[in-house]
Amino acid sequence: MAVKRTPFIAGNWKMNLDHLQSIAFVQKLAWSLADAKHDYADAEVAVFPPFTDLRSVQTLIAADSLPLAYGAQDLSAHDSGAYTGEVSGAFLAALDCAYVIIGHSERRTYHHETDAIVNAKVLAAQRHGLVPVVCVGETAEDLERFGASAVPVAQLRTALEGVDGAKGLVVAYEPVWAIGSGQAATPEQAEKVAAALREVIAEVLGDDVAQATRILYGGSVKAANIASFLREPNVDGALVGGASLDIDEFSSIARFK
Ligand code: PGA
Repeated sequence: MAVKRTPFIAGNWKMNLDHLQSIAFVQKLAWSLADAKHDYADAEVAVFPPFTDLRSVQTLIAADSLPLAYGAQDLSAHDSGAYTGEVSGAFLAALDCAYVIIGHSERRTYHHETDAIVNAKVLAAQRHGLVPVVCVGETAEDLERFGASAVPVAQLRTALEGVDGAKGLVVAYEPVWAIGSGQAATPEQAEKVAAALREVIAEVLGDDVAQATRILYGGSVKAANIASFLREPNVDGALVGGASLDIDEFSSIARFK
């Protein structure tokens, strides 16, 4: 039986907007979304600011009861201790983050995060009650050698080892070649991989968890192409990079219908 999953529109700010800018941005974004409330009411909208913005974003969202979720772009695999520069899931939970992005291709590329590290971070997120947004995706070279699904499927299988399906999970399929390139995957490509990822979730965590899990597409999503992705049965939302920094554009993406 088909399960209704609430669409999830997530803005990954990457290393953009300091804490003062984040306050102005979130305020304006909330106004823009409120203007269009009837259109986007059935989507969950979330922002993923840099760590240094999170306290400001938390305070603003809580004070004004803004209909926005938020989370961090990464966390440590460790809970506390001598890990200079790292940020614990416990600290993110203390800031009421609901979500944390894990395994973004920029972390995998620039910080050499392996599938095993991604798995350790997913487990750390769950230990602290954060819902991991697990990113997987193939490079252009992988695509040519193995097709679209093989690498993301293998990445997800490792990422899910030891995971508690009852604690919640979001998966983002982000082909590396589509990120920031202006060249998005086609909706059919995204659907094919999303369906394969849902099968992995079903195998590892069971069918109920697979049906409840939201699978996002990411990579050059904009207002002009979001609806075509959301029409696919296995694509439940988007992880948006560049376009999430433009309030009008991001707000239009959240009104994807
Ligand atoms: P993009 O980035 O929307 O700028 O392509 C997506 C991402 O990196 O999550």
